Amino acid sequence: MNKKVSIIGSGFSALSASCYLAKAGFEVTIFEKNSTIGGRARQLKRDGFSFDIGPTWYWMPDVFERFFSDFNKKPSDYYALEKLNPAYSVYFAKDDYITIEDSLEKIYAAFEKEEVGSSKKLKKFIANAQDNYDVAIKDLVYRPGVSPLELVTPVTIKKVGQFFSTIKKDVRKEFKNDRLAQILEFPVLFLGAKSSNTPSFYSFMNYADFGLGTFHPKKGMYQVILAMEALAKSLGVVIKTNSTIEKINVDANKRATGIVANGKQHSCDIVLSGADYHHSETLLDAKHRQYSESYWFKKTFAPSSLLFYVGFDKKLKNVNHHTLFFDVDFETHAKDIYDTPKWPEAPLFYASFPSITDNDSAPEGKEAGIFLIPLAPGIEDTEALRLQYFEKIISRFETLTSQSIRNSIIFKESFCINDFIKDYNSYKGNAYGMANTLFQTAFLRPKLKSGKVKNLYFTGQLTVPGPGVPPSLISGKLVAGLITKQNNNNEDLI
Ligand SMILES: Cc1cc2nc3c(=O)[nH]c(=O)nc-3n(C[C@H](O)[C@H](O)[C@H](O)COP(=O)(O)OP(=O)(O)OC[C@H]3O[C@@H](n4cnc5c(N)ncnc54)[C@H](O)[C@@H]3O)c2cc1C
Repeated sequence: MNKKVSIIGSGFSALSASCYLAKAGFEVTIFEKNSTIGGRARQLKRDGFSFDIGPTWYWMPDVFERFFSDFNKKPSDYYALEKLNPAYSVYFAKDDYITIEDSLEKIYAAFEKEEVGSSKKLKKFIANAQDNYDVAIKDLVYRPGVSPLELVTPVTIKKVGQFFSTIKKDVRKEFKNDRLAQILEFPVLFLGAKSSNTPSFYSFMNYADFGLGTFHPKKGMYQVILAMEALAKSLGVVIKTNSTIEKINVDANKRATGIVANGKQHSCDIVLSGADYHHSETLLDAKHRQYSESYWFKKTFAPSSLLFYVGFDKKLKNVNHHTLFFDVDFETHAKDIYDTPKWPEAPLFYASFPSITDNDSAPEGKEAGIFLIPLAPGIEDTEALRLQYFEKIISRFETLTSQSIRNSIIFKESFCINDFIKDYNSYKGNAYGMANTLFQTAFLRPKLKSGKVKNLYFTGQLTVPGPGVPPSLISGKLVAGLITKQNNNNEDLI
């Protein structure tokens, strides 16, 4: 008889794992507490507008291709992908912005225009970033983080220095122009840490940005969730929504024997949690948890966010599909996130207007806007604070882009720390899991497999390889690989 796997959660990592496990012959059931699947990548629909609640940047298309090709499929079997041009623009002051277009040649020209001689330096920087991409994304991130030796290869030995310098140091050494340096430091924000705390090796994110480009799935990122749902179901995965897991059962032999969903027992052979790691362990009796509260407390978490989903009754000017607002000092905002957590005085923010390129996201002649302010996890979240910050960024937006938008708002909805906790059981309301700092990389991250309970596994942005949609797809593959291998070898390991 096929072994039964119960998976907690239906985010990218859980969906990914479910496909691999079903393909390997397991009987897989996903239990999702919310009424819709997708986790942080759910969708909000209102009055003819649709918004991706979480991820909006489709980077590293090769990782998505590799995922679907493992099932003899292609992304285009499920959704249409458009390469955005421009990829994004970055505002530094009123009417003053740099646009990043869709090819390296155009980006070199934009750099050169900003600072003579910078394109040559950029070429060198990107060549190294590409090399790191080939090592990291094509190989290293597909290793399960079981042992430090996984990272030791003839190629990585040559790059060891890049684990002990930082992106910030490398960028600032070469690029004296602050605006260009900020653009080069932006991609690692996806990894959840400051560039001054992110090893140089992670410059592969710069290659993902400039070298590979920014894509948009027609009708939004949620289409990728729907694609994975369709694939999972075609492989036999059963998905149950409105199913909150309240407990992971463990027997006297320290073996996971099932879960309790909405008060009902479900027995199974293997439990895999794709919910936030900290929360997943609270579903166990304290003696079965691997990581203490103080372990989590000491970790560097990626930021939380204050988000607004806004319907405008007109098309907006002077912005692109993705627009970043770096008109205030990044270091000061970063301190308020990482060093002395508090609401930032002058926050950087990001805005996305998917309806600029995608008619499906707003009614004709209208604009769908998503605004995101990165925040420290765990700080106070009140309606009054949300409103205060909405006013702050809308005023700045109006000044910087020379237009008034306040009176064109049809509706706005917000999402912040309390929602991350309520909707996803997120530790301190973090948005992107745990940061990829040097000491939170690979085998130093929380493990895919429990060290205390047999047949209990974890996947998602808090374990390997880290935060982001592509890493979550990979995390699902890695954990499914471990489960399959141990099952094939009849291993009953903890
Ligand atoms: C605002 C925001 C913007 C982002 N932008 C980008 C981007 O542009 N590009 C990018 O690549 N990445 C981005 N990310 C990161 C990316 O979205 C995440 O890394 C990824 O979606 C995490 O997937 P996951 O499977 O680890 O977890 P999740 O998506 O969090 O899934 C966990 C699931 O577990 C469920 N769950 C929790 N507790 C229980 C329980 N007790 N019982 C049952 N179910 C439970 C939750 O409801 C949830 O559905 C963004 C994230 C956020 C929040």
